[in-house]
Amino acid sequence: MSEGEDLEEKKLLGSGGYAFAKLREQEEIKASLGVPHIFLGNIARLNEDRFTKYYCNRCTKEYAGSPFISHENPNEELGEDVILIEKGEYKCRTCSNIIAQYRKFNK
Ligand SMILES: [Zn+2]
Repeated sequence: MSEGEDLEEKKLLGSGGYAFAKLREQEEIKASLGVPHIFLGNIARLNEDRFTKYYCNRCTKEYAGSPFISHENPNEELGEDVILIEKGEYKCRTCSNIIAQYRKFNK
């Protein structure tokens, strides 16, 4: 990260809740895809220390800190030179409800 770069706290939507995290402008642009909402699944893996809090739909409760992040690197060939590099999940630390899932491809 370059010096003096602004991190702004944003709400990131997931299928099972939402989270608040500090994002760089470039990350925000990449994840919002031109719509007013930012989707956690489009952000891929964000370091836990960027999160300030999250909300779990199943617990109907807000928690401080980051959701639990699990990921794997299947390096699975999906054809036409597309490779699934990484897939992961953001989960509630209390009930393991999936807040959001993401997939990262080589292109
Ligand atoms: Zn929960």
